[in-house]
Amino acid sequence: MKTLNDFNFKNKKALIRVDFNVPLNDEFQVTDDTRIQAAKPTIIKILEDGGSCVLMSHLGRPKGKEDQFSLRHIADKVSEVIGVQVKFVNDCIGEEVAEAVDNLKAGEILLLENLRFYEEEKNGDVAFAEQLSQWGDVYVNDAFGTAHREHASTAIIAQFFPENKCFGSLLATEIESIDKVLNNSEKPVTAILGGAKVSSKIGIVENIIEKVDHIIIGGGMTFTFIKALGGTIGNSLVEDDKLQLALDILKLAEEKDTKIHLPVDALIADAFSNDANTQTVDTYEIPDGWMGLDVGPETSDNFAQVIAESKTILWNGPLGVFELENFSKGTIELGNAITEATANGAFSLVGGGDSVAAVKQFGFGEKVSYVSTGGGAMLEMLEGKTLPGIEAVLK
Ligand code: AMP
Repeated sequence: MKTLNDFNFKNKKALIRVDFNVPLNDEFQVTDDTRIQAAKPTIIKILEDGGSCVLMSHLGRPKGKEDQFSLRHIADKVSEVIGVQVKFVNDCIGEEVAEAVDNLKAGEILLLENLRFYEEEKNGDVAFAEQLSQWGDVYVNDAFGTAHREHASTAIIAQFFPENKCFGSLLATEIESIDKVLNNSEKPVTAILGGAKVSSKIGIVENIIEKVDHIIIGGGMTFTFIKALGGTIGNSLVEDDKLQLALDILKLAEEKDTKIHLPVDALIADAFSNDANTQTVDTYEIPDGWMGLDVGPETSDNFAQVIAESKTILWNGPLGVFELENFSKGTIELGNAITEATANGAFSLVGGGDSVAAVKQFGFGEKVSYVSTGGGAMLEMLEGKTLPGIEAVLK
């Protein structure tokens, strides 16, 4: 795996695919700069070597050249985060870009306009990728968030850099973190899978079941398992077409000697609301008209015990409807157990959409070993898929 350390960027132009798909408010101000911060180490290393950076990214899902999706809006934020005044050019291909790239000096940064202003980007157009490839001596992919897409700038472009291509430090760290959990892990390994549905996590379960020692199940998908096992689940979330699948997973786990831990009690509510009446009951005995929205205290204790004994921890998905305060306790207690295990020397990786939101909301981000920056990309890696953006750089 080639990384930045395999190159000296002195007097070289690095063409870096970053993921600056950041949220903006109504005044086009960046409301969360995590993704820009995440690209900083790569940019700084290249500048410190004596090179220059041409940054390319997408922003949102524009239909053609829509100004609200212009990367111009974020140029000041990038300058502030990196500490270097960033130059911006109104296009990502063509004459104007050629001139701006030509004039770029060592130590300077040029930000190109939104790649998705051209539909060729998402279509993975080879000619478009070739035009982009002119803007750098070395291609650096540091966009983990889009590594699962076979787009012009994320994968197709790599063929125009037969030798001079590598992973940026963010992407390299993401790859190493997942590898540390799934392939080079210190045992026991525990995966916590929460969130809404079994169907969206089944690919992960199938891929990790042989690699981990414990799988903790929480969130809405709990109830598909409980129903399949003969419990009464009231009005809880359920996927009736996945009952057999749930049983198959439990059977496979038994064959592979992987322990699956299901919640033994649930905090149930008579409505999907913070104002609902609540009570804690046995997960297998949820009355009609009530739904499980969080794990109960006995479950939290059980899960904490498993986590305390784990050396490697993967967390994907909340244990309850954490967005509603009254149903966030199980997720918070899980976060506490993971951070405590981390403080005691375990390696913990958090990734995939909502668990990252939960980790940020409750302030666990600094206390776990690594928080992944890619939702879909992370899920696909956990499913054991080879991501096009990674494969293209390895070729
Ligand atoms: P996912 O994107 O699959 O990780 O799902 C995350 C969502 O699952 C969050 O928005 C949670 O509110 C939701 N969730 C967690 N537990 C439950 C539950 N018991 N019932 C319904 N939704 C839940």
